[in-house]
Amino acid sequence: MSELCYMCEKPGITVEHVPPRCLFPELKDAGVDLRSNLITVPSCEEHNCKKSDDDEFLMVSIAGILGNNSIGYEHYNGKIQRALKRTSYKLLEKVFLKKRLIRLGKENKFIDVLWGTPDYKRLIDCFTHIAYGIHRHHFKASFVGTTKVLLGFLHTNAPNPKAFKAFIKEKASLELADKTKHGDNPAVFYYQYTEPDKFGIFLVKLCFYQNVDVYISYMPSSSEKPFHIGFELINLGCKTIITLGDKKFEFNSSADSADLIRNPRIDSDKID
Ligand SMILES: [Zn+2]
Repeated sequence: MSELCYMCEKPGITVEHVPPRCLFPELKDAGVDLRSNLITVPSCEEHNCKKSDDDEFLMVSIAGILGNNSIGYEHYNGKIQRALKRTSYKLLEKVFLKKRLIRLGKENKFIDVLWGTPDYKRLIDCFTHIAYGIHRHHFKASFVGTTKVLLGFLHTNAPNPKAFKAFIKEKASLELADKTKHGDNPAVFYYQYTEPDKFGIFLVKLCFYQNVDVYISYMPSSSEKPFHIGFELINLGCKTIITLGDKKFEFNSSADSADLIRNPRIDSDKID
């Protein structure tokens, strides 16, 4: 009997790469082998086909991100530019819902940067599939439960998501400090797992091109629903400070915003 698909209970009759193979530059482009022992999991036909479009979307979304190592940068300038030209840049329309080109630099050194709002929902979907695939590969078992994806590489100015992202990054870096980086091509991709906490929840960090970091928490369906007084207070809009090591993370820091929640009819003109 064949193994089951990594996403569902159907027979896994095809082989799926996690993360998608197109993220790893080919030997002819890179000059070195960056496709050594790529991770594969069994997949049903439906979950494999559905993903092929998403693979290209993910590649265009993350390989060109500023701050990536030279492998990501070369990949973006080589294979990805060819793919963009082939589709008359229609691929970019799918990646960025809103975009503009800005030029950074001074004197004669410039770099053109595409600044935009990514298709957040689709990115979350892509990384959720990777989280299930990596779990299947690492633990030799499909994950049953719920996952939550945090895109560490996206920037936000909204105060609470910003503080929450900083908090998760710090928590992950403390818990992952002594954990093995898995993956035979770490310049392109590696992952690390934390130990489960007292609720059974654990976290994976995915890192692409040594720069694009994604954190995914797994809550197995067998685990208890966690209760954290700090997060309950944050959800109520109260000013809350959570301490981690020697760092403090402040949520709902503006007293006005808390007032606004306590008294929804407050006149917005009176708020600084
Ligand atoms: Zn399936």
